[in-house]
Amino acid sequence: MRTVYFDNNATTAVAPEVVDEMLPYLREHFGNPSSMYGMARRTAAKIREARERVAALLGVSSEEIVFTSCGTESDSTAIWAAVRVNPHKRHIITSRVEHSAVKNLYEYLGNNGYRVSSVPVDGKGRLDLDYLYDHLNDDTALVSLMWGNNETGVMFPVEEIARAVSERGVIFHTDAVQAVGKVPMNIQETPIDMLSLSGHKLHAPKGVGALYVRKGTKFTPFLIGGHQEGNRRGGTENVAAIVALGKAAALAEAHMDEENTRVKELRDRLESGILSAVPHALVNGDTTHRLPNTTNISFEFIEGESILLMMDELGICASSGSACTSGSLEPSHVLRAMGVPYTAAHGSVRFSLSIYNTREEVDYVVEKLPPIIERLREMSPFWKAARSC
Ligand code: PLP
Repeated sequence: MRTVYFDNNATTAVAPEVVDEMLPYLREHFGNPSSMYGMARRTAAKIREARERVAALLGVSSEEIVFTSCGTESDSTAIWAAVRVNPHKRHIITSRVEHSAVKNLYEYLGNNGYRVSSVPVDGKGRLDLDYLYDHLNDDTALVSLMWGNNETGVMFPVEEIARAVSERGVIFHTDAVQAVGKVPMNIQETPIDMLSLSGHKLHAPKGVGALYVRKGTKFTPFLIGGHQEGNRRGGTENVAAIVALGKAAALAEAHMDEENTRVKELRDRLESGILSAVPHALVNGDTTHRLPNTTNISFEFIEGESILLMMDELGICASSGSACTSGSLEPSHVLRAMGVPYTAAHGSVRFSLSIYNTREEVDYVVEKLPPIIERLREMSPFWKAARSC
């Protein structure tokens, strides 16, 4: 059976070029980059190259990149650093649609002495900027807002926000895990203090990430230990994974145009194909400021999980907006924050594409999905009730 992988916001396939580049650092060049002999110096030099490649993708300088183990560690490092360097400040700001990597740490801090302001979004997932600016005050230690939403793809105007936040002297962090590699960035020009990214969202393996820390930003490490990463993250470097991230960053830079033309066209073809074939289907989120690879579509009156299971039987991989992994069938906090009606939020499916997808795959899904929706609706009491009204 063929596999159509449309779940690239969950994780991506490791690029073959990335595998080729990292393997020698598992097989032959296993030296500890902190050691003194030639073999170790070679690994240290390769890490320097990876740092330069990641920095080039963001448009920053290489000393500003700290390698971490994942996007979650990058987020935690940034948030803890911001609150620890400002111990007298007890107010922190985020949005209502963040990934759990930020959301749950804010909740923890909220239960441990911090006042948290959660900026609302409108029905299209756009941030209430007035609310944000009204809540900035002298007690604010940090504003952390995502660049691109993992569920809907909606992008916040982080560059504009960074300027406004920095004028108030407040640290600004952005979780750019979903945006890096998908949209061009020139961070040097923007007063973003810290930015998180994750390898496995851009065709590197799982277990590696990076945090950009702008030169001059007050910082304190999350992992306290050795002197690695310029004393900003203790722990012997995961050399092969860092090499992989460096290569993936170089590939992402090379593929940026394709991501924003061909991948975007595929996403749009998929979206319009589904919308024209399926009644009562609607796109969640702002379609103008959106990651080029993502569409989140609600199929009213049925469950997203059932759609996923039936698509899986045909080899189609996607995600749903309800948090069944947490043991409940509650719609996601993102769709709830946007006020998506219950009947639509339950039936949401996220399709997220990559440069490895093809037009044939899109057409396969556009052909196979409508009969699935029809069959599920025939079994749905909510659909029958809605039709009889
Ligand atoms: N932030 C966002 C927006 C994400 O989508 C994810 C992963 O899905 C993370 C953070 C966490 O990244 P990682 O899986 O590398 O810890």
